[in-house]
Amino acid sequence: AAKPIKKPKRVLPERFKSYKGVWVFIEHEHGHVHPVSWELLGKGRELADKLGVELAGVLMGGDGDEIRAITAEVGAHGTDLCYLAQHPVLHDYRNQSYTLGMTELVNTYQPEILLLGATTQGRDLAGSVATTLLTGLTADCTGLDIDPSDRSLLSSRPTFGGSLMCTIVNLATRPQMATVRPRVMPMPARDPARPARVVEHALQLDESAIVTKVLDFIPDARADKPQLPFADFIVSGGRGLGKPENFQLVAELARTLGAEVGASRPAVHAGWADAERQVGQSGKTVRPKLYIAAGISGAVQHRVGMEGADAIAGINLDPGAPLFDFANYALIGNVTELLPALDKAFARR
Ligand code: FAD
Repeated sequence: AAKPIKKPKRVLPERFKSYKGVWVFIEHEHGHVHPVSWELLGKGRELADKLGVELAGVLMGGDGDEIRAITAEVGAHGTDLCYLAQHPVLHDYRNQSYTLGMTELVNTYQPEILLLGATTQGRDLAGSVATTLLTGLTADCTGLDIDPSDRSLLSSRPTFGGSLMCTIVNLATRPQMATVRPRVMPMPARDPARPARVVEHALQLDESAIVTKVLDFIPDARADKPQLPFADFIVSGGRGLGKPENFQLVAELARTLGAEVGASRPAVHAGWADAERQVGQSGKTVRPKLYIAAGISGAVQHRVGMEGADAIAGINLDPGAPLFDFANYALIGNVTELLPALDKAFARR
């Protein structure tokens, strides 16, 4: 149950009292849904049940059956209904057209909560929708709950460099908006037999009024594109690796295990790994089955990005490293010896 928190006395203006329902923005790129949308539907279901309201997915996109086909998946992931807004202007994501679309939907159907993924697209859209609607937005939340006394959304997130957790409440406007990073919320069970009502909404959009134009769409076709948030196995390296040649030991073990390579912030700053591979508060949140942290102390800003792993193994010279306070396996020793030894052992299997 949500912990009671002390709130300043503010009365929700009368015009917002009719706002009902929990919405999740279904983010997709030309029909490929970002998994954070399903994760948010899992949390959204819980919030909607606590409030006794319906859970809806909001699907916007260009004309065509590939977008319409997503409505069945939206139902399968636990919603009661799916708002479907198709328009040629929405074929590619653009801030202005999607903001116009979302604000029209919100003003028409009046949800009390609107959740988006803290992805590049979700962050971009959430900020402009919140400022257009003049409502509050909590970015990068790690926890969401309901205060049943006044139906407010309790959005928690780390603050002051990760040293404090704060709970943010929107007292005076609706909808209450939040973004949540991929892999923070667990994936809900999928029930393909669960139907969702589809509510089609014809948006009034005009291409000539949209200032940005899409000239071409070039998919990122890199074969080694980091897929950190959804990797089952990750081997991460930190400052304890000492030099770039040693960081290769991390990459070698990752290759043997079929794992992704991760890194702490100092390893990224040293140029040993791309910024896309940074795990932690200002990097990615990951939830693998196994996370191996080599030469990483386990500072709180790193921990918040990886503590959702099913199992954590640390390799460190220092038995007192903070990582060992929460790791499942402690390998005490030098990374330059233990990484090749593990690599050899796994390669034999
Ligand atoms: P260190 O803390 O220096 O740890 C190195 C470890 O290696 C030590 O435990 C040491 O005992 C061990 N070691 C040394 N030599 C060896 C060896 N030969 N063999 C085995 N072990 C060895 N950090 C992140 O990682 N991700 C973030 O997203 C992030 N965001 C931040 C945001 C803010 C606002 C701030 C203030 C900080 C952030 N940080 C982040 C930095 C964070 O506070 C830590 O400084 C960082 O995580 C430490 O990285 P590290 O563990 O690689 O290095």
